Amino acid sequence: MWGGRFTKGRSAIPELPEVETIRRELSPWLTGRIILSANLVDASPGPKYANLERAVSQRIMTVKRRGKFLLLPLDKGDELIVHLGMTGIISPTAPKKHLRVKLELNPGENSTLYFQDTRRFGRFLLVPAGQYQSLPTLAAMGPEPLSKDFNPGQFQKALQASATAIKTYLLSQKPVAGVGNIYADEALWRSRIHPLSPAKQVAKRQIPLLLNAIKEVLTESIAAQGTTLNDYRTVNGDLGSFRNRLKVYGHENEPCPNCGDVIERIVIAGRSTHYCPRCQKAHKEVKR
Ligand SMILES: [Zn+2]
Repeated sequence: MWGGRFTKGRSAIPELPEVETIRRELSPWLTGRIILSANLVDASPGPKYANLERAVSQRIMTVKRRGKFLLLPLDKGDELIVHLGMTGIISPTAPKKHLRVKLELNPGENSTLYFQDTRRFGRFLLVPAGQYQSLPTLAAMGPEPLSKDFNPGQFQKALQASATAIKTYLLSQKPVAGVGNIYADEALWRSRIHPLSPAKQVAKRQIPLLLNAIKEVLTESIAAQGTTLNDYRTVNGDLGSFRNRLKVYGHENEPCPNCGDVIERIVIAGRSTHYCPRCQKAHKEVKR
């Protein structure tokens, strides 16, 4: 099965490295397959589950990723969009419960796709290709972090446009796509920026450092197949291998690997935020 994480005692949204890992695994299975039927199960048509009937008799051209969304372009001009939310799982095996979508594919190996979503934050819908009006996050999303479009000039301009706390702004996906909670904390720590610094007041010299830190943490995590993906696959509660390389996330009250000061945890925009008060000096006017 391929999908969201659900670890002992806490759950976390699958972030870009996990979704990219899932994309790479789905691609050989789904590319070229024809959808023979598409059915909602225990879910109602609406913004999260729209127009699936139009997928019938279309061929899946490829499996792409944009930020944390999976995009499956179809051969008659439509696109299937899947967001795993917190607990979404795509699998060729029928789940025991919380099944939301069932796609029958042309005969072959694994000819049924099941989408399970326990906590109902996921999405599975069809839109005309590139028409993302019903998905404001996707429509307003910044450049892909590992592409050349995410560069110091573009990033500086994006940061200038917002007085929001840098952590919150990164999570909005607007300055750059696909940076979620764990990787925002890690990248801000690596570039020595306080998470509550207003985006437009991040020092000019720190902008390329933050940009590089974002590229680095995401690249390293993709290489490690994400932070907590493996536990979901093996269903034994173990975390994925990038967890061993996290420096601040989940290390509240432990010494900072850089300076030895105690790592603190605060809540910003409803999300757990970890930082080192000595390495990441607070800006005078920071507000939560
Ligand atoms: Zn420190």
